[in-house]
Amino acid sequence: MSDQTYADIIIDISNENLDKTYQYAIPDQYLTQAKIGAPVVVSFGKGNRQINGYIVGLSKEPKIEISKIKPITEVVEGAPVIESHLIYLAYWIKENYGGTMNDALKTVIPVRKAVKQKEEKSISLAVDLEQAKDFYYEFQRKNNKARVRLLGALIEKQTLDYQDVIKKLNISRSTLQGLEKLGITKTETKQIFRNPIKQKEQIYRPVCLNDEQLQIADHVVNEYEAGKRSTYLIHGITGSGKTEVYMEIIDNVIAMGKQVIVLIPEIALTYQTVRRFYNRFGDRISILNSRMSQGERYDQSLRAKKGDIDVVIGPRSALFTPFQNLGLIIIDEEHETSYKSETTPKYHAVDVAIKRAELTNSSVILGSATPSLESYYRAITGQYQLFTLRKRAKEAAIPKVWVVDLREELRKKNRSIFSEKLKELIADRLAKKEQIMLFLNRRGYAGFVSCRSCGHVMKCPHCDISLTTHNNRKVICHYCGYGEPHPTLCPSCGSRYIAAFGTGTQKVEELVKREFPGARVLRMDTDTTKKKDSYGKILSAFASHQADILVGTQMIVKGHDFPLVTLVGIIAADLSLHVGDFRASERTFQLLCQASGRAGRDALPGEVVIQTYHPEHYSITTAANGDYEEFFKQEMLYRKMMQYPPAAHILLILIMSKVEEHAEEASIHLGEAIKEMVNEQQINVQMIGPATASLAKANDYYRRVIYIKHEEYNTLIGIKNYLEGYLSFTNRFSDCSFQFDFDPMSSY
Ligand code: ADP
Ligand code: ZN
Ligand code: ZN
Repeated sequence: MSDQTYADIIIDISNENLDKTYQYAIPDQYLTQAKIGAPVVVSFGKGNRQINGYIVGLSKEPKIEISKIKPITEVVEGAPVIESHLIYLAYWIKENYGGTMNDALKTVIPVRKAVKQKEEKSISLAVDLEQAKDFYYEFQRKNNKARVRLLGALIEKQTLDYQDVIKKLNISRSTLQGLEKLGITKTETKQIFRNPIKQKEQIYRPVCLNDEQLQIADHVVNEYEAGKRSTYLIHGITGSGKTEVYMEIIDNVIAMGKQVIVLIPEIALTYQTVRRFYNRFGDRISILNSRMSQGERYDQSLRAKKGDIDVVIGPRSALFTPFQNLGLIIIDEEHETSYKSETTPKYHAVDVAIKRAELTNSSVILGSATPSLESYYRAITGQYQLFTLRKRAKEAAIPKVWVVDLREELRKKNRSIFSEKLKELIADRLAKKEQIMLFLNRRGYAGFVSCRSCGHVMKCPHCDISLTTHNNRKVICHYCGYGEPHPTLCPSCGSRYIAAFGTGTQKVEELVKREFPGARVLRMDTDTTKKKDSYGKILSAFASHQADILVGTQMIVKGHDFPLVTLVGIIAADLSLHVGDFRASERTFQLLCQASGRAGRDALPGEVVIQTYHPEHYSITTAANGDYEEFFKQEMLYRKMMQYPPAAHILLILIMSKVEEHAEEASIHLGEAIKEMVNEQQINVQMIGPATASLAKANDYYRRVIYIKHEEYNTLIGIKNYLEGYLSFTNRFSDCSFQFDFDPMSSY
């Protein structure tokens, strides 16, 4: 056997068609550099085109005839080598969420192109000061003016900026080279990294952790020091001091020479948050966000790799920061849907974080005021360690919550979108010159059909999910495809006030202005924040009291603190309660808690008005009481009964085609293939659909869905693998595309 080492190489990860590995021989000169994760150039195909790739495996065994194995052309120097555990992580992501190895690698290595580094060049003396002076006098005697000028300046100030020497001192490059050859001066080049944190000074005022906080921090740090790694869930209301606990733990972990990743939803990654981390950790932190240029992001990953930073803060993608010495991953607001990727591979940051932690011997801390059902379920079943923070850290009163029954308002002949209570409180705050937030918990139109007289909502008899209106003629279920004619009279009370539900933010703004002509109103939704910076501008205008009322969607309830806001109005809690999605109640509970958390954050006490046709619904009553445990109990009953996650798992298959019939045909065919497979293997899964997706057509593609439920995640992975294999062998559906989503977080 020869001593030749071979490398498995994945070619040009931007090319989907080359989604397999190819074996190349490693020439001796590259043996030391050829590590897993190293970028390479190789000859590819008959024409020996030179293309880029990555080493994803090493071995001594040739897989094909040795004479056919080409050597690697070059191992690219200076480009960052991806940690081998990240390559493995990419493989794990591909296995667990579907898609190609290329998709997975692109997720793990977001910046592919090397961006030109910024450099700082300087000139300094290569001799000591006395010798420099001797040379100075010698050049003066020889009337060598340029040399005299430069040496004079260097004697005065030992180091000069290269550009200043050329431009200001007017020294030619040949003069410089001449002096360098004589060994009198030297040129040095230093790489400088763009640092996205442009802070002036670090002002650290230590807070003294309270008993609850201290208990958590001590427990985690003690376990860490003892070598125990774990996943922790900190359940604590907004303002209970979770961030202080994270920072205390981070401090201890980096003191042990480890590095830390902190994930925060982009929308909450505000100046204040960054400032807090900066004040505590100074230049040892860095941030990543989507507004940064590719160059800036690339620099941050190099800094992380070199160990120049200890903590990186960013949204989902920051999870793949190439730290060499990772020790801890923190995920704040872990329930946020933004932690789930919307593109293939549709991975969830929490699960990937736990996997990366396992590969690197790190711990994971999840934190939330309203943990996802999945996380809380794992916590109470012992997979995570659970901690609870019950008080606000600063003595701020918990706001008073009013739940208003909109059916009553109709009975009282109040047809406006504002209940009497909300109107009264708005007028009161306007008079007191305090601020108000009016919140529409969805982009407006929800599609479900309900009765304004009795609150009855049309539901699917099979899935217990709200039916959605279709052309005002039919109502259908987007899980199973069940449909019935659009009702004209309420099946429950006979009223004719039964219709699709919806109001837009613009409409709310209009009505506020009509009802309160003197009030200054700002609106924030996807329309008003299309332009770059407009999001920040609206928020800062509101923060500086340039408006009395802020009307908006989800966006307004996150991140910012407005001390003058003492009233939060939720116009229609039902908007999120009956969307055709099994997470509707959870989403509503979270939004209501978050919105309530906006009222009275400081010295002034706050009030919250929740308007709804379902005041008795548990997600509303529990949110009004701030009782997460009770909400969890109720919601778990529903999830168990209907076999929705976390009681079981769901695999969604999305089928898309520009030709409607093809999408339909393919979905029916796949459905049959799945049935056959599960029958053969005697797996007892529940298949729902195929059905038209709730977003029936997007970007000219017709969309169909199939849902498969089973208690074991691995069974669903088996089905995904089977289908991926099946689809790669048949070219019947070449004009269709397919996507997989495990335990989906968004509606399709
Ligand atoms: P969370 O992350 O749970 O929302 P924070 O950590 O942001 O909570 O704390 C809320 C506010 O209370 C912050 O202004 C923070 O500085 C302050 N705070 C937190 N813990 C303490 C403490 N032990 N003593 C004094 N102030 C605290
Ligand atoms: Zn009715
Ligand atoms: Zn159904």
